[in-house]
Amino acid sequence: MTKDYGGVLNDLVAGRWHHPVTGDIATVPFQSIVIQDALDGREAELLESLGFQDKTLAVVSDRYTYDALAGRIVRQLKAAGFRIDDIVWRSPVCSDQGVMELRGLTSSAEALVAVGSGTINDSVKYASFLDKKPFATFPTSPMTAHFAGSASVSFDGMKQSIPAAHAEGVFVDLEVLRRCPQRLIWSAYADVVCRTTAQVDWLLSHRLLGKPYWDTVYHLLAADEPRLMANPEDVVAGEIEAIARVTRMNGLMGLGTAFAGTTHHGSMAEHMLSHYIDMFAGDQHPGTTHGEQVGVATLAMNRLHHHILDQDAPPVLKATAVDRDAIEARFGKAIAEACLQSFMTKDFDQKATDRLNQTLAAIWPDLTRELRPLMLRSDDIESALRRVGAPVSAADLGLSADFWRDAIRYSRFTRDRYTMLDLADDAGLLDDFAASCS
Ligand SMILES: [Zn+2]
Repeated sequence: MTKDYGGVLNDLVAGRWHHPVTGDIATVPFQSIVIQDALDGREAELLESLGFQDKTLAVVSDRYTYDALAGRIVRQLKAAGFRIDDIVWRSPVCSDQGVMELRGLTSSAEALVAVGSGTINDSVKYASFLDKKPFATFPTSPMTAHFAGSASVSFDGMKQSIPAAHAEGVFVDLEVLRRCPQRLIWSAYADVVCRTTAQVDWLLSHRLLGKPYWDTVYHLLAADEPRLMANPEDVVAGEIEAIARVTRMNGLMGLGTAFAGTTHHGSMAEHMLSHYIDMFAGDQHPGTTHGEQVGVATLAMNRLHHHILDQDAPPVLKATAVDRDAIEARFGKAIAEACLQSFMTKDFDQKATDRLNQTLAAIWPDLTRELRPLMLRSDDIESALRRVGAPVSAADLGLSADFWRDAIRYSRFTRDRYTMLDLADDAGLLDDFAASCS
């Protein structure tokens, strides 16, 4: 007997999940999400539920995910009479060139089936989107990408998050996931720990600057986060329920864009820090995963949140200072130009700063009272990351202390999202904080 682990995702897809405060029904653009302990033998039935049985299907995998899952899926579908192009993509790259190659490989298919991790999934997602073909995905690791409507694609070496379509169906065989490399498991774990810092940053920007904010995804994540944080050993041990928890939380982080049309709920300063590493480490990039970097960055941001929000009086802001030369020295001229263009929305002159100081003075006690319960203890985050096997410091990532301090100082200039990095820097507190980080 198979067991279902979809939890709140089942309720969402069925249209029976209500926001606990507003009572509104939250909807998601998936026909089907199935998360079970085993799906062996059900592949044809799952794709039939999407109406894929009448289409020529390209089943896309790489040589690792073919052995892990795709070979089985192809055998099952052929036995059930499906028309299949079995495509084992030898050197998958999710870039403009790579996606072009994949579109050629899948040109005779009417629908695509991705079997793999982030690269296969996002390549299939973007190729399907461009060719206006439906697709389904069978993940081989628990990542947000499988549930997200956007694809992470490199254009001329620059990674960009491109709007694309959601999968028609996401079919998760937890028995396959628990056998994926441990590094992918702890990376997925570390990537969702960012809930705490993303929510604090986003709500801060809402209260201080009036930015739009939606809490739907946080109510959904709350069903799993406490046990995820308390029992990291279960994840390492490959317990099905723990792997399911990591999968559901990654799923919610991915599909959370459907509620608000933005990734703010799971991508604030901690993700800027991770992107900073990917953008500027160059030859020194230690080869760490997105999730590993986000875990370390989440811990750093959580410490900064405590550092600022534990103060009784609000910090006093000064007009934003932009050291263009220092930014160009780190970003290069062209990237600095583009970044500073988007930074303008939070480049506050004296008049705007006076207003922000008035707002801060008026809301500070309420703001800290509201934000503190959303934060986790730094020791608890560090302990959970350690116990799951993930890095906890820049040194663990293989980054120099100088590079990491620069990341903390200059990440705020890479995006227009307002976070605690902005508030701390305008308050003259960020340099000392960065100097204390390693
Ligand atoms: Zn992430």
